[in-house]
Amino acid sequence: MNARGNLFIVSAPSGAGKSSLISALLKNNPQDKQVSVSHTTRPPRPGEENGVHYHFVATEEFKTLIADNAFFEWAEVFGNYYGTSKHVIEQTLAKGVDVFLDIDWQGGEQVKKIMPEAISIFILPPSRTELARRLTGRGQDAQEVINKRMAQAVSEMSHYNQYDFLIINDDFDTALTQFETIIASQRLTCASQSHAQNDMIVDLLAE
Ligand code: 5GP
Repeated sequence: MNARGNLFIVSAPSGAGKSSLISALLKNNPQDKQVSVSHTTRPPRPGEENGVHYHFVATEEFKTLIADNAFFEWAEVFGNYYGTSKHVIEQTLAKGVDVFLDIDWQGGEQVKKIMPEAISIFILPPSRTELARRLTGRGQDAQEVINKRMAQAVSEMSHYNQYDFLIINDDFDTALTQFETIIASQRLTCASQSHAQNDMIVDLLAE
């Protein structure tokens, strides 16, 4: 029988490379891992697909889902609502699949309260200069927009020390290896192993 999957909370400011790290992790290790697709009221960006990147919903629908207690956690992030569906998380963990929540610090705080065994990881960029470079994009945005993104990033980053693990994403491959190491280690805790290897351990310890 599979052990229950682990729940990972992954937070970072925009520009830290969180989405790329999660995508690479799942590409390299597709077995037993899944990213939770959140609901949001923000409009889709070019290239984003409904049901793949997010479930894009109207504010009214989001509020109905809150009233129906359908969310594991939800938060208002910079003017839009975001939430994680409860039943998908439960069903997926029960199948022994690890679930990754790409959520902000407010969501991370709520999840830790409901499920203290969830493992939280924060990703930081290597410097303010590099963050500014990543947030500036292709140089087509107004300074005011860039300043706003930087202020939002600093606000998110100020919560880094509430997390269990911290990755600095300077060199991408190094950061990915660190990410994979954290995840692999959770499968090797005594609690996980004694569940997953129960039959073997019972046999070993037989009088
Ligand atoms: P974006 O609009 O750039 O995709 O995401 C903005 C922020 O919302 C990111 O920090 C992202 O991690 C966070 N976010 C995405 N989905 C959820 C969610 O379901 N719950 C919470 N609390 N935050 C979310």
